[in-house]
Amino acid sequence: MITGGIIYIMAQFDKHPGEKALADLPSEPVRSFETGFGGDVVLPADPEYERERAVWNGMIDKYPAIIARCAGTADVVSAVTFAREQDLPLAVRCGGHNVAGTAVCDGGLVVDLSPMHGVRVDSENWTARVDGGATLGDVDHETQLFGLATALGAVSETGVAGLTLNGGYGHLSRQYGLAMDNLRSVDVVTADGKVHTASADRNEDLFWGLRGGGGTLGIVTAFEFELHEVGPEVDAFFIWFHADDMTDVMACFLEWTDDAPREAGVLAFTAHVPDLEEFPEEAWGEPAVAMLGTARGDLEDDVFEPLRSSATPIADLSGSMAYADLQSMLDEDYPDGLRYYWKSIFLTDVTDEVVDIMERYTESAPSALSTVDLWHLGGAVADVPQDATAFWHRDKPYMLNFEANWEDEADDDANVTWGRDGIAEAAELAVASGSYGNFPGLNEDPAKLRFGDNYERLADLKTTYDPETLFGADGSIAARTDTD
Ligand SMILES: Cc1cc2nc3c(=O)[nH]c(=O)nc-3n(C[C@H](O)[C@H](O)[C@H](O)COP(=O)(O)OP(=O)(O)OC[C@H]3O[C@@H](n4cnc5c(N)ncnc54)[C@H](O)[C@@H]3O)c2cc1C
Repeated sequence: MITGGIIYIMAQFDKHPGEKALADLPSEPVRSFETGFGGDVVLPADPEYERERAVWNGMIDKYPAIIARCAGTADVVSAVTFAREQDLPLAVRCGGHNVAGTAVCDGGLVVDLSPMHGVRVDSENWTARVDGGATLGDVDHETQLFGLATALGAVSETGVAGLTLNGGYGHLSRQYGLAMDNLRSVDVVTADGKVHTASADRNEDLFWGLRGGGGTLGIVTAFEFELHEVGPEVDAFFIWFHADDMTDVMACFLEWTDDAPREAGVLAFTAHVPDLEEFPEEAWGEPAVAMLGTARGDLEDDVFEPLRSSATPIADLSGSMAYADLQSMLDEDYPDGLRYYWKSIFLTDVTDEVVDIMERYTESAPSALSTVDLWHLGGAVADVPQDATAFWHRDKPYMLNFEANWEDEADDDANVTWGRDGIAEAAELAVASGSYGNFPGLNEDPAKLRFGDNYERLADLKTTYDPETLFGADGSIAARTDTD
């Protein structure tokens, strides 16, 4: 008896959290869940388990008990029901690109929508129906066939769902708003396993909360987006200057952003010059300030000229290109499995102190792959009232984002500390506040920072639609409890 107990305990020590949680589940419900499931159920013993539990950020190393690769809405409903009935932690995966790695969880069930990535364009009504597991590349691929696009992010491998539900900034935002502002409706599975359609005139409160609340209210199985005429060719602006010219370049950038047309958007960032043939070899590894943007429509000849002539560039890689190519241009800079820590804060203004932070932190970055990004927002994003959706920080014209990108596990602490300290220092400034749900660090900050004055309404909705906080892995907001 005693020996058997010791052997049992030893065996438990050898197991990872996914194996332990699965061993603790009653076998009959697991079997019947597998049998009724239309897609693939991946368990720790399966050969594809290691591949399927990996997400984009190589720092994340979580071991789920079950990965449910859904084929359709019925699978999503049965996965939600199973997790709720078995009291399992639950995580939801679309593109797996959340920086904090919230698409996986230890010892729980991952509802993986990535097999559901269909996109259907209605070219007459300029809308697209996008399945809940699609990537930005899936959408651009189909919509560009008709010379159409919706406002999404700037890297094609990112998931539509995570990006859109937390806002979604990209090249088209100043003209067409956040990704979520382009939503006409969503189909969503809530914690009770019910399927709803939410839109401006159906389940309006759910629609309000899904736009900006992240994945906290349910699992979206389909999005209906508005489309706009974009491309297929656009003017891309991509220019690099030496960091010695930072003061002049940033002064020009800020003057330009003051009255930039909505058809043009530019992001400024500090970095180190990559050792690529597009750059002069003598500049490789040098600190730099760069700008990336695009212009569309009938703008004056070269809307970027004032920026281009702000100093002598190291490299000017601008030119006309296919919109879809612009959208995937940065993909290879962010490979799966590298280590990442990205954290943001919004700015009402870019003061000398902000520029000084960008400059100093670029010099002290532990990794030459890291960047400090300054997003120019405003335009159509700021047209929508702050309380019209759960997304609060529309009124801020800029966002500062520390992107720590590095290779070795041994450098984790140094890089996370770099990004965290940079944002903490910025947070001391009177112009800085809030945080963006899509660049959340490791979700260490309180949800109130994200949701501002919308927090209470979102907490009420959370309590109505997900009273047990089944959708809690994204760290955004918890249902109210009796003690609240
Ligand atoms: C390389 C890269 C580039 C980026 N560029 C931009 C950019 O240009 N603009 C910008 O705004 N952001 C950008 N981001 C941030 C990006 O928006 C977030 O990382 C986002 O969370 C990624 O979405 P995902 O679907 O891949 O997330 P996943 O990791 O798959 O999921 C993250 C969370 O989203 C929720 N979720 C996922 N799918 C669903 C669903 N179907 N229904 C309900 N909830 C769901 C869940 O809460 C889940 O925990 C970028 C990120 C990366 C890695």
